[in-house]
Amino acid sequence: MLKPNLCYASLKDSYLFFHIAQKTRAYLEAHPDAHLYRMGIGDVSLPLAPAVIRALHAAVDDQGEKGRFHGYMPECGMPSLRETIAAHYGRRGVFLSPDEVFVSSGASDELGDILDLFDRSSRAVIMEPAYPAYVDANTMAGREIVHLPSGPENQFLPLPEEGLDADLIYLCSPNNPTGSAYNRQQLGQWIDWANRRGAVILFDAAYEAFIEEDLPHSIFEIPGARSCAIEICSLSKTAGFTGTRLGYTVIPKELERCGMNLNAMWVRNRTTKTNGVSYILQQGGTAVFTDEGQRQIHENIRVYKENARVLMKALDAVGIRYWGGHNAPYIWMECPRGIGSWEFFDLLLNEIQVIGTPGAGFGACGEGFFRFSTFGDPADTREAADRLIRLLQREAGGSSAS
Ligand code: PLP
Repeated sequence: MLKPNLCYASLKDSYLFFHIAQKTRAYLEAHPDAHLYRMGIGDVSLPLAPAVIRALHAAVDDQGEKGRFHGYMPECGMPSLRETIAAHYGRRGVFLSPDEVFVSSGASDELGDILDLFDRSSRAVIMEPAYPAYVDANTMAGREIVHLPSGPENQFLPLPEEGLDADLIYLCSPNNPTGSAYNRQQLGQWIDWANRRGAVILFDAAYEAFIEEDLPHSIFEIPGARSCAIEICSLSKTAGFTGTRLGYTVIPKELERCGMNLNAMWVRNRTTKTNGVSYILQQGGTAVFTDEGQRQIHENIRVYKENARVLMKALDAVGIRYWGGHNAPYIWMECPRGIGSWEFFDLLLNEIQVIGTPGAGFGACGEGFFRFSTFGDPADTREAADRLIRLLQREAGGSSAS
């Protein structure tokens, strides 16, 4: 009898967003007229930039004209888009050859698919709290996972510890869910560790466009990264492509292990397992990197940043500790009175109809914390912030009286 991949039996149920949806549905069944203030899910609320829409329409028209029609696209990406992305890095002082850039259908696909490059016996370190896909993709691949917890003591930015024994490490900066971002010196420590060990860093830069402080947007800004890192990036949050789908992955040509070149291996992988990303989407993605596109996507990012400012102000007003908000579209707050993150979820839903994400869903060390996404509607975010202040003030009054 066929034996399925038994590693799937080790997966934990994808409990987090399912459970949130269940609780939300139950609340709405009991209160059909209620308006919910949704600040849980990390999905964008603003539409694509006009420059992108124009490029998508033009590309659709191309597909209807004999002389301009495109069939299969090159598996690793349209050469002009690979050049455009390399030039975008160049403006930040990171010099890539276009064939070090691979166009993808998004970061989630790549985070899982890239594991094809590594032996199953390699151990993966995952900094936690973490985006749940890292653990699940490695579990499906049968890989041993080392959980690297973080907390307020290190600002949710763990560093390589003495004796840390692993071959692959996932670093996400700016981080989902904590919003923390590594500085150059801290990333340098990871790069030294990886180069010394012969490990590979999988650097998830999905939120780099939200950085506002003097912090690295790319791991390749740090010396030594080209011999130990792969960067995975996405237009999902940068440019509202969550439902449109486009991303890119950077694999330097000098990244080699056991005499094998990882860039060449990825070319072989993509040319076998994909037939490229659609012409239409790559044309839309190209528009993101034009001056007009950059200006327009940053207008949208500014709206999300204003949401972050409103929420941070509310938490400041009630003296709650939080991380993130400045360099990422997430705010990671400490639950009041030491209550559990699901208990806090229920409190917000039932008392003020605000939905966030319990920290426990991002790994054990996320318990006691709560994530707000800043991608919501601005008017809803302002109302949610007011409600949060009133609730937390009432809570503080209640707890000091008891
Ligand atoms: N990486 C992180 C840290 C994310 O939070 C997300 C989506 O929320 C992704 C990757 C996935 O991005 P994409 O939409 O490109 O698959």
